[in-house]
Amino acid sequence: MSQNNLIDGRAIAAQIQGELTQRIAALKARGVQPGLAFVRVGEDPASKVYVGRKEKTSGELGIFSETHVLPEATSAADLLKLLAKLNADSRLHGILVQAPLPKQIRQEVIYATVLPEKDVDGFNPVNVGKLMLGDDTGFKPCTPAGVMELLIRSNVKTDGAEVVILGRGNIVGKPMAAMLCQKGRHANSTVTICHSATRDLKAHCRRADIIVAAMGVAEFVKADMVKPGATVMDVGVNRIADATSKTGTRLVGDVAFAEVQPIAGRITPNPGGVGPMTIAMLMQNTVRAAEQAT
Ligand code: NAP
Repeated sequence: MSQNNLIDGRAIAAQIQGELTQRIAALKARGVQPGLAFVRVGEDPASKVYVGRKEKTSGELGIFSETHVLPEATSAADLLKLLAKLNADSRLHGILVQAPLPKQIRQEVIYATVLPEKDVDGFNPVNVGKLMLGDDTGFKPCTPAGVMELLIRSNVKTDGAEVVILGRGNIVGKPMAAMLCQKGRHANSTVTICHSATRDLKAHCRRADIIVAAMGVAEFVKADMVKPGATVMDVGVNRIADATSKTGTRLVGDVAFAEVQPIAGRITPNPGGVGPMTIAMLMQNTVRAAEQAT
């Protein structure tokens, strides 16, 4: 099996973080330390891991961070009170409220409360609108922005490409489509979004030059769904049973990697592809927020 068609997300994320180190040093020389607040509600194990990784990377880069953990039963009013405080805190340039939130709190209200200029997650409606309008002054959601960066830095041509996105979620599928269909450099694709009501999803996939899989269905994309030479970006994170692993489970993506890799032109491993980029893009948004605030 050839290894040279891999798009190495860890290496590209490290490269981006290297570039950020210089920008952070320049900010510090002006007396500014970028600051990022994490808010986690409840004890969802995956959320704990995600926030832990983001805290660790912030620390490594010299970004100041603080984490607020609220109980599962927190009311929307209490969370809004905390966000008002964080919005007003000049040490903090970015605020990230880790999803998912408990049922009593409406995600849209929280997205709309984080100030657009501190919304390094890119989900405030102002930033979502700017993304649709092709206005680059807004913050873009980290995971699809990470996919874009992987495509750009791997020289995958998007101009005129047929792109099929699997999944129309607000976090990945929809913003991914908005990024790729913009008129301009490093975009300009013909985008199809597939979802659970799509007729003949396989036929859409087979004509794609680029597939972005963001459904959350383990190993859904099989070899017979991929055009030889296509680029395959695997965003999904799924835990499946594995009797050979110590924990009895392991993480896989939405792509059946072993059978798709030999056919694909380029492919992201998973883990080690899109995941590290999400964090790198969060750090990049935070540094930009600090630069813009000063
Ligand atoms: P989501 O909001 O739940 O959206 C999933 C989408 O997939 C929906 O549009 C759904 O269709 C579609 N879908 C699910 N099963 C399908 C099927 N059998 N056939 C066709 N369409 C199907 O998910 P998300 O938040 O966008 O996340 C997607 C995946 O990316 C998840 O695995 C998530 O863990 C992962 N993720 C990874 C990162 C990272 O950093 N690596 C970050 C964020 C998310 P309907 O709309 O019709 O229901």
